[in-house]
Amino acid sequence: MSLPVYDWGTAPAHLMTRRQLRGAGLRPGGHDPVAILRCRACHARPARTCIRPAWLYDARLAVPKRTPTLRQEEALDRAMAARQTCQGCGIRQPHCLPRHDRRCAGCAAGDLAVAA
Ligand SMILES: [Zn+2]
Ligand SMILES: [Zn+2]
Repeated sequence: MSLPVYDWGTAPAHLMTRRQLRGAGLRPGGHDPVAILRCRACHARPARTCIRPAWLYDARLAVPKRTPTLRQEEALDRAMAARQTCQGCGIRQPHCLPRHDRRCAGCAAGDLAVAA
Protein backbone atom coordinates (compact mmCIF):
# COMPACT_ATOMS: atom_id res chain seq x y z
CA MET A 1 0.00 0.00 0.00
CA SER A 2 1.50 3.31 -0.97
CA LEU A 3 0.70 6.36 1.09
CA PRO A 4 -0.45 9.66 -0.36
CA VAL A 5 2.32 12.20 -0.68
CA TYR A 6 1.80 15.86 0.12
CA ASP A 7 3.98 18.82 -0.67
CA TRP A 8 5.07 21.07 2.15
CA GLY A 9 2.14 23.20 3.22
CA THR A 10 -0.47 21.27 1.24
CA ALA A 11 -1.37 18.53 3.72
CA PRO A 12 -4.88 18.64 5.20
CA ALA A 13 -5.05 20.22 8.64
CA HIS A 14 -5.80 16.94 10.40
CA LEU A 15 -2.58 15.38 9.16
CA MET A 16 0.34 16.19 11.39
CA THR A 17 3.93 15.17 11.73
CA ARG A 18 5.02 13.52 14.94
CA ARG A 19 6.57 16.82 16.03
CA GLN A 20 3.35 18.71 15.34
CA LEU A 21 1.38 16.13 17.27
CA ARG A 22 3.70 16.51 20.20
CA GLY A 23 3.35 20.28 20.01
CA ALA A 24 -0.41 19.82 20.22
CA GLY A 25 -0.06 17.58 23.28
CA LEU A 26 -0.88 14.45 21.30
CA ARG A 27 0.89 11.29 20.27
CA PRO A 28 0.11 8.79 17.53
CA GLY A 29 -2.31 6.38 19.15
CA GLY A 30 -0.37 3.38 17.94
CA HIS A 31 -1.49 3.87 14.38
CA ASP A 32 0.80 3.92 11.40
CA PRO A 33 1.50 7.06 9.41
CA VAL A 34 -1.25 7.74 6.89
CA ALA A 35 0.66 9.96 4.48
CA ILE A 36 4.07 11.30 3.58
CA LEU A 37 5.05 14.96 3.65
CA ARG A 38 7.78 16.12 1.32
CA CYS A 39 10.23 18.41 3.04
CA ARG A 40 10.25 22.16 2.73
CA ALA A 41 13.32 22.14 0.48
CA CYS A 42 11.54 19.98 -2.09
CA HIS A 43 8.60 22.32 -2.30
CA ALA A 44 10.34 24.46 -4.91
CA ARG A 45 11.55 21.42 -6.88
CA PRO A 46 8.59 19.08 -7.41
CA ALA A 47 10.58 16.76 -9.65
CA ARG A 48 13.16 16.05 -6.99
CA THR A 49 12.90 12.86 -5.01
CA CYS A 50 12.58 13.87 -1.40
CA ILE A 51 15.25 12.32 0.75
CA ARG A 52 13.95 13.80 4.01
CA PRO A 53 10.21 13.14 3.95
CA ALA A 54 8.22 13.22 7.15
CA TRP A 55 5.51 10.81 8.19
CA LEU A 56 2.09 12.30 8.65
CA TYR A 57 -0.28 10.98 11.28
CA ASP A 58 -4.01 11.48 11.48
CA ALA A 59 -4.63 13.80 14.42
CA ARG A 60 -8.17 12.41 14.72
CA LEU A 61 -6.67 9.03 15.62
CA ALA A 62 -4.13 10.53 17.98
CA VAL A 63 -4.51 10.33 21.73
CA PRO A 64 -3.44 12.70 24.50
CA LYS A 65 0.13 12.37 25.60
CA ARG A 66 0.52 10.08 28.56
CA THR A 67 1.50 12.11 31.57
CA PRO A 68 2.29 10.01 34.62
CA THR A 69 -0.04 10.62 37.51
CA LEU A 70 1.37 11.60 40.87
CA ARG A 71 0.69 8.11 42.16
CA GLN A 72 2.65 6.58 39.27
CA GLU A 73 5.51 8.97 39.90
CA GLU A 74 5.59 8.03 43.56
CA ALA A 75 5.66 4.34 42.70
CA LEU A 76 8.44 4.98 40.21
CA ASP A 77 10.36 6.94 42.81
CA ARG A 78 10.00 4.15 45.36
CA ALA A 79 11.29 1.65 42.82
CA MET A 80 14.21 3.91 42.00
CA ALA A 81 14.96 4.52 45.67
CA ALA A 82 15.18 0.76 46.25
CA ARG A 83 17.73 0.48 43.48
CA GLN A 84 19.72 3.53 44.52
CA THR A 85 19.88 3.25 48.31
CA CYS A 86 23.04 1.77 49.74
CA GLN A 87 22.43 -1.25 51.98
CA GLY A 88 25.53 -0.35 53.95
CA CYS A 89 25.09 3.28 54.91
CA GLY A 90 21.49 3.86 53.82
CA ILE A 91 22.41 6.88 51.73
CA ARG A 92 20.66 7.22 48.40
CA GLN A 93 23.00 7.47 45.46
CA PRO A 94 22.33 9.44 42.27
CA HIS A 95 22.80 6.26 40.23
CA CYS A 96 21.55 2.70 40.38
CA LEU A 97 23.61 0.34 42.48
CA PRO A 98 24.63 -3.12 41.27
CA ARG A 99 21.84 -5.65 41.67
CA HIS A 100 24.06 -8.23 43.38
CA ASP A 101 25.53 -5.77 45.87
CA ARG A 102 23.39 -2.76 46.64
CA ARG A 103 26.09 -0.74 48.27
CA CYS A 104 27.78 2.52 47.34
CA ALA A 105 31.41 2.57 46.24
CA GLY A 106 32.47 3.82 49.66
CA CYS A 107 30.87 0.93 51.52
CA ALA A 108 32.14 -1.63 49.00
CA ALA A 109 35.67 -0.18 49.33
CA GLY A 110 35.43 -0.22 53.12
CA ASP A 111 34.65 -3.89 52.91
CA LEU A 112 37.80 -4.48 50.90
CA ALA A 113 39.89 -2.46 53.36
CA VAL A 114 38.65 -4.62 56.25
CA ALA A 115 39.38 -7.80 54.33
CA ALA A 116 42.91 -6.67 53.44
ZN1 LIG B 1 12.59 16.79 0.40
ZN1 LIG C 1 27.12 3.13 51.48
